[in-house]
Amino acid sequence: MTQPQQHPIAPAGTFPGFSGPDAPRDEDLYKCVHCGFCLNACPTYLETGLEMESPRGRIALMKGVAEGRLAMTESVVGHWDLCLQCRACEVACPSGVPYGRLMEATRAQVEQEFKRPLRERIGRSIGYKQVLTSPVRLRWIGRAAKLYRKSGAQTLARKSGLLGLLPGDQEYLDESLPPLSDEFFVADGQVITAEGRPRAKVAMLAGCVMTLTHAPALEAAVRVLSRNGVEVHLTADQGCCGALNAHAGELESARMMARQNIDSFLSIDPDAVIVASAGCGSTMKEYSELFHDDETYLEKAERVSSLTKDIHEFLVELGLQAPTGALDYTVTYQDACHLINAQRISSAPRQVLDAIPGLKRVEMPEAGVCCGSAGTYSITQKEMSQRLGNRKASNIASTGAQIVATGNPGCALQMASALKRVGSESRVRYVVELLDEAYSKETSR
Ligand code: SF4
Ligand code: SF4
Repeated sequence: MTQPQQHPIAPAGTFPGFSGPDAPRDEDLYKCVHCGFCLNACPTYLETGLEMESPRGRIALMKGVAEGRLAMTESVVGHWDLCLQCRACEVACPSGVPYGRLMEATRAQVEQEFKRPLRERIGRSIGYKQVLTSPVRLRWIGRAAKLYRKSGAQTLARKSGLLGLLPGDQEYLDESLPPLSDEFFVADGQVITAEGRPRAKVAMLAGCVMTLTHAPALEAAVRVLSRNGVEVHLTADQGCCGALNAHAGELESARMMARQNIDSFLSIDPDAVIVASAGCGSTMKEYSELFHDDETYLEKAERVSSLTKDIHEFLVELGLQAPTGALDYTVTYQDACHLINAQRISSAPRQVLDAIPGLKRVEMPEAGVCCGSAGTYSITQKEMSQRLGNRKASNIASTGAQIVATGNPGCALQMASALKRVGSESRVRYVVELLDEAYSKETSR
């Protein structure tokens, strides 16, 4: 983790500062009045107590670099890298500082100006530009990972000590390999008809990581929509939404992926575009931001942003058909940051859970504090990610709930591994999986 550092301040204009069309905007930067109301909402500040690991500190560094008083050094970039982009600070800020937009633009500047170590640059280039941009390549990686596990190669690599001999923290990367679904979820043009009277026609995002790690949850989402009278189109030419790239400052590849999805979804003229992953939904609702400078795509991007709905939000707005099948579970709900902070959705998933007969819902302490997943953060910022994961696992365990429900794949993976680490038996499920299970128990079906 980064240590507190003094940042030498030079006269304005000494260093080159930010540049180009994606630079943080002055009107966003200078909205911050240094009041500090955001500090206690910030997970990295809560964990460290350090100003430079707070939103206010990070904005001060942005201003210093923007004015050419600070160089973009490893230490400065380290403070920005430790930010989870959870956007809890945005909700707490009385001045309306659009912190998510500022940090995305700042990260784009970092990728433009700052030379990361070679290994990191290679990893980023493969991950963001080769793998995430292609659902086919992503599935090949998934299949290779399954083979690595099932063939015994993983056991051999661990037992032989080979991982420890390779450069970098290969043991941690190996441990971080997520569990993979038996069958991956593939969107290849399927149309799932509505049960009963059709109420809406939607396009649904399949996504990237979730198709490999939580395929059953996506299948449950499709069944739940159909059960609620919704015709679901899984358009074949869609792909990853670009959220991971946008958050990492890889804006050009994020735009490329967004364009593909925009064209794919609009091709069926849907009533809504449904997203079952909080992080993807938040990025798609902000596609218009991504194309603020692009005359060709801005209008279409605005249309997709306005059509995008988180699945819980959509079901509640449509009028959820409450299940009659009962579930005898005690469940606590974890607010994914990109639902509660970025999309300001906290009540809809709870309403869905509360509609399930027999289910007892209990609140956990700090339900809205980031679990430390944050896209690729759990790999790039291992220590802070695990600290926040443990904090979340303790909060879940304190409720005594058998199940923690979520609406985001990153949170699901992070909480599952944190719960295992602390020895808890609570299981992680998606809200839509629980709803689907309740429907499956209806006797009159
Ligand atoms: S986005 Fe989250 S981690 Fe980053 S500064 Fe804001 S509250 Fe802190
Ligand atoms: S609450 Fe808003 S205005 Fe106050 S320090 Fe934080 S970001 Fe700046």
